[in-house]
Amino acid sequence: SLSERLDSAFKQLKGEGRISEINVATTVKEIRRALVDADVNFKIAKEFTDRVREKAMGEKVITAISPGQLMVKIVKDELAELMGNTEVELELKANPTVILIAGLQGSGKTTFSGKLANFLKTKKNKKPLLVAADIYRPAAIDQLKVLGGQIGVEVYSEPENKNAVQIAENAIKEAKAKGNNVVIIDTAGRLAVDEVMMTEVANVKAAVAPQEILFVVDSMTGQDAVNTAKAFNERLDFSGIVLTKLDGDTRGGAALTIKYTVQKPIKFVSMGEKLDTLDVFYPERMAQRILGMGDITTLVERAQAQFDEEQAKKLEKKIRQNKFDFDDFKEQLQQIKKMGSIKDLLGMIPGVGKAVKDLDISDDAFKGIEALINSMTPAERANPELIDGSRRRRIAKGAGKEIQDLNQFMKQFEQMRQMMKMMNKIPGGAKGLKMR
Ligand code: GDP
Ligand code: MG
Repeated sequence: SLSERLDSAFKQLKGEGRISEINVATTVKEIRRALVDADVNFKIAKEFTDRVREKAMGEKVITAISPGQLMVKIVKDELAELMGNTEVELELKANPTVILIAGLQGSGKTTFSGKLANFLKTKKNKKPLLVAADIYRPAAIDQLKVLGGQIGVEVYSEPENKNAVQIAENAIKEAKAKGNNVVIIDTAGRLAVDEVMMTEVANVKAAVAPQEILFVVDSMTGQDAVNTAKAFNERLDFSGIVLTKLDGDTRGGAALTIKYTVQKPIKFVSMGEKLDTLDVFYPERMAQRILGMGDITTLVERAQAQFDEEQAKKLEKKIRQNKFDFDDFKEQLQQIKKMGSIKDLLGMIPGVGKAVKDLDISDDAFKGIEALINSMTPAERANPELIDGSRRRRIAKGAGKEIQDLNQFMKQFEQMRQMMKMMNKIPGGAKGLKMR
């Protein structure tokens, strides 16, 4: 990763009092190479490292931090600045606020529309209306309806109408009549930039005068994303960028290049297929990600948002009394699931992302364990000691599992309880289990 490579480049800086011309040259080259690896366009990477070189030169190395750490800080700050430095909020004053969603087919427009509606409803207290203006694929209407159903947001569609402009105009009338204060128009996309698509979106824009035009782009598409962004911006003059599929192993260098090229703010990042995995864009965090430092802040925030304080207290008490049982275990699984796919979360921890890439820790892996617990009687769940040989056979069978699966799970569960017991013996030990 970049941070590893920087580390080794920085080793050469050790013992120097100041960052000098010679020692900075190697590091700058490493940074440039790493940026290009992370999908940053070469020209931009070069301009960027030239700036970093200038800033770093002559910087006094204070004893508290190593020259390496100092360089990382300079690079990170510079990256964050280039990407906008502060997060940019949506313009939501108008009533209704019209938000037009544009981008290539498959970039994640429809998914994002659902996430945005959910975000506005739950975080901004809005009453959004989703509009299906993809007139080419009948399935697109259903897709949006399913999403709307999941989050309890109304979806406007006209299955027989092949005029996206009319649909958008009618939807706004409907919103005014029904009191929806935000209208999110999900449009059709093509596999590549083409004239028909551009004209259609431009016509919708001209007809409804949206307060926000969000350009949705798949971060996995790397350099191509930049050309697409340019084409859309020239035609639509969009107000913000949405970077999707950041849950993949892409490092997000595209964010930097797009921002630099079109000079528009990145407003959201989408990190998964679940509807609550939408995040406001924080340049600082993206800088860390590009540098391979992981996204600990987002991880911690997501964990905090989902973690139930009451439940945590209850759990802590049970652990202290050595009463942790299968019901508690199941609740814990549910908590983890709420936090988004586990792999996404692990991937945000520096150094872990790469290691878990090929590992199967899908939510499915949990299903087996849940099935086993569900197959236990309430008494068995509350008193794991009850589970003897004949009960084991019944439980495994009920869950559609082999008895070995149950034995293995019970063994792990027992080990976990032993660990908890041990921690209880250490003064203040159980505190380590709290999340904050
Ligand atoms: P559209 O054609 O632009 O409307 O794209 P869709 O919203 O239909 O998304 C295309 C595919 O990408 C679907 O399979 C989505 O589930 C998936 N997708 C969308 N956003 C994300 C994301 O943030 N992460 C991942 N992993 N998949 C996504
Ligand atoms: Mg779509």
